[in-house]
Amino acid sequence: MTGARALFACAAVIAACSNAACSKEASPATLATEGDARIATGADVVAASSAVPPASAAQAIPRRLPKDCNVILLSIDSLRADMPWLGYPRPIAPRLTELEKKAVSFRRAYSVSSYTSMSLGGLLAGRLPSELHRSGYFFGTYRGDMFFPKLLQAAGIHTAGVMAHMYFKSAGFDQGFDEWRIVPGITFDPTTDHEVTSPKSEQLAEELLGNPANDGRRFFFWAHFLDPHDVYMRHEGIDWGKGNRDRYDGEVTFTDAYVGKLLDFIAKRSWAPRTVIIVTSDHGEEFGEHNMTRHGFEIWETLVHVPLMVLAPGAEARSIDVPRSDIDLAPTILDLFGIVRDGTFEGRSLVDEIYGADGGERDVIVDLPATSE
Ligand SMILES: [Zn+2]
Repeated sequence: MTGARALFACAAVIAACSNAACSKEASPATLATEGDARIATGADVVAASSAVPPASAAQAIPRRLPKDCNVILLSIDSLRADMPWLGYPRPIAPRLTELEKKAVSFRRAYSVSSYTSMSLGGLLAGRLPSELHRSGYFFGTYRGDMFFPKLLQAAGIHTAGVMAHMYFKSAGFDQGFDEWRIVPGITFDPTTDHEVTSPKSEQLAEELLGNPANDGRRFFFWAHFLDPHDVYMRHEGIDWGKGNRDRYDGEVTFTDAYVGKLLDFIAKRSWAPRTVIIVTSDHGEEFGEHNMTRHGFEIWETLVHVPLMVLAPGAEARSIDVPRSDIDLAPTILDLFGIVRDGTFEGRSLVDEIYGADGGERDVIVDLPATSE
């Protein structure tokens, strides 16, 4: 949710083997600030996109995935990659740090774009936002493209989402969802987010996930938490300081507590042992790097390098340090449900890598189309 217009279209190719990625000596903390994305033209994007080689034959790695698994996707708006598990010195996210230790962590993951509308449209479609049918507005409305929840719904899997900004009411992201809930009591502000919503998001998530019907069916559940988005509100009992990054850190700590509460709730459910949990973000945030604050408008490492961790039944914890993208989540989630994807999804399933396969190196494309406003 960033109010000013996008000034120009741009895209970046994240090379599979940048200096930061390939140097064993590079400390994790440097990954978020080094290797700023190379800028390519729109023509480069098309060329690079079509140049992606076909997926290699699946490796013979056994998937210890329950046949009746569920998937929970928890996305946290504006969550930068430089969290404690990548060397950030403040313990601002203890619950996510604990989860990351147990998860398959893609430590060089990228969002599809650098602000919510483009990034999440790309995530749901498994395609670059430039390729999608959307209104020309900065806060685009998506209609007419295949979003992966539609395929889940068609396969009889229950689909539910909990969102925390009024943009999600009209974005078209609800396509394919049986239940689509916006947290109550918030108003639409296209320029920012003044609301404090994590407690409501968590409560609503408990309400939907706690439905006894979930004990006897398969489901996909998505909650998008929004509090780390600016404005950086202060929260009682959390004080990392008064500056923008300090208060942002406080928002992360606050959100982390509610994500932790939800993880505790999930752990007590009968279906927990057969449920995959994915955590990621829609973009990062800038605090003066490149003379920028907030997000959107441009593509920089700080804006598109995001956390991506997967806790899957039977998968051993490990970190993967080659570039991957949230564009891979649509084919990954379809694969987890055993649904054969159609040809519209450009990402690659990460399921074999989650279960220990070496996925190899490949480039990642980040895309920020111009808007007409
Ligand atoms: Zn966002």
